[in-house]
Amino acid sequence: MAFTIHGLAVSQGIAIGHVHLISHALLEVNHYHVAQKYIAEELYRLDDAVATVHGELIGLKAAASGGQAHSELGAFVDLQIMLLADPMLVDAARELVSTRRCNAEWALVQQMEHLVEQFQQIEDPYLRERQADVVQVVERLVKVLLGHPGRLPAKRRDGLGTIVVAHDLSPADTIGFRDHNIAGFVTDVGGPTSHTAIVARSLGIPAVVGLHHIRDVLEDDELVIVDGTRGVVIVAPDEHIVEEYRLRRTELELERSKLKRLKDTPANTLCGEHIDLLVNIEGPKDIAAARAVNADGVGLYRTEFLFIGRDSLPDEDEQYEAYRSVLKTMGKRPVTIRTFDVGADKALNGNTRVEPNPALGLRAVRYSLAEPKMFRTQLRALLRASAHGKLRIMVPMLAHAHEIDQTLALVDRAKAELRAERVRFDESVEIGGMVEVPAAALALGMFVRRLSFLSIGTNDLIQYTLAIDRANEAVVHLYDPLHPAVLKLIGATIQTGARYGLPVSVCGEMAGDPAYTLLLLGMGLRHFSMHPANVLEIKQQVLRADVGELAPKVQRILRMDEPMRVREAVERLAG
Ligand code: PEP
Ligand code: MG
Repeated sequence: MAFTIHGLAVSQGIAIGHVHLISHALLEVNHYHVAQKYIAEELYRLDDAVATVHGELIGLKAAASGGQAHSELGAFVDLQIMLLADPMLVDAARELVSTRRCNAEWALVQQMEHLVEQFQQIEDPYLRERQADVVQVVERLVKVLLGHPGRLPAKRRDGLGTIVVAHDLSPADTIGFRDHNIAGFVTDVGGPTSHTAIVARSLGIPAVVGLHHIRDVLEDDELVIVDGTRGVVIVAPDEHIVEEYRLRRTELELERSKLKRLKDTPANTLCGEHIDLLVNIEGPKDIAAARAVNADGVGLYRTEFLFIGRDSLPDEDEQYEAYRSVLKTMGKRPVTIRTFDVGADKALNGNTRVEPNPALGLRAVRYSLAEPKMFRTQLRALLRASAHGKLRIMVPMLAHAHEIDQTLALVDRAKAELRAERVRFDESVEIGGMVEVPAAALALGMFVRRLSFLSIGTNDLIQYTLAIDRANEAVVHLYDPLHPAVLKLIGATIQTGARYGLPVSVCGEMAGDPAYTLLLLGMGLRHFSMHPANVLEIKQQVLRADVGELAPKVQRILRMDEPMRVREAVERLAG
């Protein structure tokens, strides 16, 4: 029987496909019974994982050989190889698969728990400690079985896609799926402006998040429909439901293709004013999408995606190539590249520092200034790339004047180095900053005096103004772009920018949401930066807008402080 689970719609579209469960809490595996006819296949999965882990351990042993310090490591690896071959572990797990029809992960974990119990009875502390090796071997096996992105199922014969179901996915995991023919994402946690949701949108993959315990109700391979527009997941749909959703998917595609006709229409309001429609990208791969909608430029290049989800950091040349290729392809159009915004939910691999409040911790410009070597490398790469197009460098999450002073000093130092090395760069490259922290919006003068442009990161500005974690689904209902305090900060930033002749854009998700286009235009915003998929829909709004008429209405909205009245007044703007 089909049933529906409601969550948060974070990436539009409809996906019909089979569930692929992913668990990242390694030993917290799913328990399910394998159909009799698939037992042989399940045993094969288990044997295959054992062979893979055996290969990994042999490789480790080879790497550990040579050198005194490594001989102990070699002994541990030997022990783990022995455990892998011990009938008490793998053979016993095979037995659980064959006789009790447990899935391989569940069988291994059950057997591990049984062995650990036995180890705990041992008096000898050294031998008792060896239970850790049993756990580690099982962890390795489970990791292989869980099918990390590289082991996702190949394209299915029935033409349906794979729906990745996870407790949570980091932005790095999500990017890892880029080349894996994934049809949809479904997660227990997350919010609409969590970075995972942003990445899902950038991949154009329908996603529903904040479904609480969905992993517990779904089984691997089950048929589901993900409606990323309405925020629902339909489990075990019958043929009629699948047919209905196929139809709906075709209609959505038709609507999108109609919008494509607007590609070459200039984004001018009814009064003839041009509005810059820029795109947010995560790397050179996204430029094709930007060109497909004829964007006016790049308003936000999130460079951190070059850094996360990998073992080593990109060096200066690799970064230079990535930035140069985007600048070259965009030609005379401006490309705003943001210095890396790592930290919070975009952790670097190998960074084991766990902060109690990561969103309030060492992230964005704070991280850059704490890692001057890494920052210097990026600044040099950016400056070198500036010779190939119209680069603007943007600094995220400014709150203090000294953060921008230090950044500008580092830029000057990098420029001096390049001059000495006779490397070409744009001497007058513009440096701008993001208004994402209420403190910056409230004391904007100190940034206006030091910078050439501003961009409002509404995702973080809302998070920090309303004190809600944007990645936490438990407080997602409090995430409100129309909160009077948020609107006042956005409005004041746009006005101050205009007063000082400093261009201001919005590059948070609000800029790509048609529900807010008229409001932002009425506030005086003339530069919108968004995901490429939203550009034509926003252009449609711009073409209908009469900013002369909107401005006084929006000024009245900015003076309101009753949320319901604000909401109604914003809806009335559409006429
Ligand atoms: C924002 O905060 O609005 C923004 C654009 O930056 P990010 O979403 O990458 O934090
Ligand atoms: Mg931000």
